[in-house]
Amino acid sequence: MEQVYNQITNEELLRIIADAPGARAVYSTGQFVIVTANRAMSAVWGVPALKPGQTLEQVAAQLPVNPQYLLLQQAYRTGKPYTAKNIKTEVEGHPIPRYFDICYQPIKNESGEVHSILHTATDVTELNDCLRDHEHVYRDKANSMEKNLLSLVMHAHYGLVILRGSDFIIEIANSEMANIWDKQLADITGRPLLEVLPEFNDQPFPVLLKQVFMTGIGHGQDEAVCYIETPLGRKTKCVSFYYDPLFDEAGAVSGIIVSVANVSDKVHNRQLLVKSYEEQRDLINKLALKNQELQKSEEMLRMSIEAAKVGTWFINVKTLEFTMSPRQRVLFGFHTEDKVSIADLMNQISPEYRGRAQAEFTKVVTIGGLYNTEAPVLGYHDQKTRWVKSSGSVIADEEGTFTYFSGVSIETTEQKQDELRKDHFINIVSHELKTPLTSLKGYIQLLQHKAESVGDEYMSVNLARADSKLDKMTSLINGFLNVHQLESGKIKLTVEQFDLNALIKEVADETNMRRKNTYVAFIANSTAFVKADREKIGQVLVNLLDNANKYSHPSGKIEVYCSENEGQITVSIHDNGIGISMDSQRRIFERYYRVENQDSNFVSGFGIGLYLCHEIVSRHDGKIWVESVEGEGSTFSFSLAAA
Ligand code: ADP
Repeated sequence: MEQVYNQITNEELLRIIADAPGARAVYSTGQFVIVTANRAMSAVWGVPALKPGQTLEQVAAQLPVNPQYLLLQQAYRTGKPYTAKNIKTEVEGHPIPRYFDICYQPIKNESGEVHSILHTATDVTELNDCLRDHEHVYRDKANSMEKNLLSLVMHAHYGLVILRGSDFIIEIANSEMANIWDKQLADITGRPLLEVLPEFNDQPFPVLLKQVFMTGIGHGQDEAVCYIETPLGRKTKCVSFYYDPLFDEAGAVSGIIVSVANVSDKVHNRQLLVKSYEEQRDLINKLALKNQELQKSEEMLRMSIEAAKVGTWFINVKTLEFTMSPRQRVLFGFHTEDKVSIADLMNQISPEYRGRAQAEFTKVVTIGGLYNTEAPVLGYHDQKTRWVKSSGSVIADEEGTFTYFSGVSIETTEQKQDELRKDHFINIVSHELKTPLTSLKGYIQLLQHKAESVGDEYMSVNLARADSKLDKMTSLINGFLNVHQLESGKIKLTVEQFDLNALIKEVADETNMRRKNTYVAFIANSTAFVKADREKIGQVLVNLLDNANKYSHPSGKIEVYCSENEGQITVSIHDNGIGISMDSQRRIFERYYRVENQDSNFVSGFGIGLYLCHEIVSRHDGKIWVESVEGEGSTFSFSLAAA
């Protein structure tokens, strides 16, 4: 290495310096004699050429005042290198000034004395241009970022404001902030906060802001309540806010960024929700209370039902699941633990009544209506016979599908036995009376014959009256015998096809003949064929027409209608007589039931006519009903399937 070093001569070294890129020159001694200098350096000094051996003063006339020359002298004097950046220099052959980074490096001998100066100058004009270009780009970018930031602030969905200084001057605020304060943006920017919102003086916000300003520690609060004075009056708002301190370069707090979210709606909605929850809870509590009351009254009802010895049952029509009360079990002789089906219950009904009960059950669960049966039941375990009367109905859901069938049962053994005894007695008496009555009728007819033949008018009229009373008695007795036949199941239907209109005409004519005071209007213009027992249906018509007569004014009018609709023939007998109360209408078809009032008391009867009508029509799978208004009249109707 030392060898290589020694091989480089002083001339070569100077040439290396001169050939190096950039402006290079070496000056010696205080006169600054040019030892070596390249062409680039002569351009720096603004001269055509720097020739070795010349002093700098010789080449550049103005050098002593050139500030660079002074600095060069300084480097020589002090022995310290001097560097300067970006020195503007007028260069020969260049219309515009160029810029150089300059260094004056003192070169010392072994004893530390400066004997020459190495002068280097690097042209940084292009670099500067380049930097300037970049600076433009950066400034544009910064400007656009600032703009974006500003737009971000201005369009933020929450309120933003920068407060400057201890007076909290509103430096910048966005429109949401102005909205929250119920102010115009233009009216608030640049003004002190408390001048814009003097009402804040009575609220905690200024104290909190001061605290942040003093301590430099941020502060936030959720759902704080504030009020704002507006031209329309004071408005209360609920806000969540945060105060962020802003620091200057020296680290002191210079302002505060305030961010505010208006949560009034949110809080209001939550309050509504809480209120509705509370109302719901209240409702649930009330419901629970009502439920308790309901359970209590249900329990009381159950107890009263049990106390009244009423059995109850409940059937799910879809699944035929069957439940019954303890009393219902007792009525059918079952124990509490017995599993009982509907069929088991039916099996305990006496065989003569079972078919009817089953048919009634099927009818009700398929087409609806009321279930009414009274039948002897043989107790399953105790083998005791009880008369049980059951009534029930089906309950339909919203679509009209039958869902439940429920009802009640009571024991009617005693009543029934009384009735049976009465029936038995009436039956015996009726039978006993029937033979003497027949003989009596024979004798009266004989006497009538005799009286007519001798022309005894007086005798003849009275015997006719006696004969009519005898007819009435016979019809009463026949009625009793019919009831007995019905009760003992001995009544048989002789079914044939016939025209109901023809039958109505026959019966109506007969009634008109018998009851001269009342006019029976027969309204029928076609045939109406049915398959039924002609005699029994005739009996129904006679009973209904007789009643219409009996319970009407003598001059009253009776109308009979017959019509066909959807395969059903309906006969209606309308009178404008005394009418029947709603209460009585419900019981009118019961056996021995008579309406107790002044109008009906004067009419004789036993309350079996309508019962017979009901039984006869029911045995034909028909329906019988009444519509009536007290004091205005009644319409009794029955319907049978058209043949
Ligand atoms: P009764 O032999 O008493 O007439 P019914 O069974 O025929 O027996 O009638 C029962 C009761 O119904 C009667 O007592 C009467 O009060 C009432 N009733 C029947 N038909 C009529 C009617 N057309 N107008 C008013 N009341 C009637």
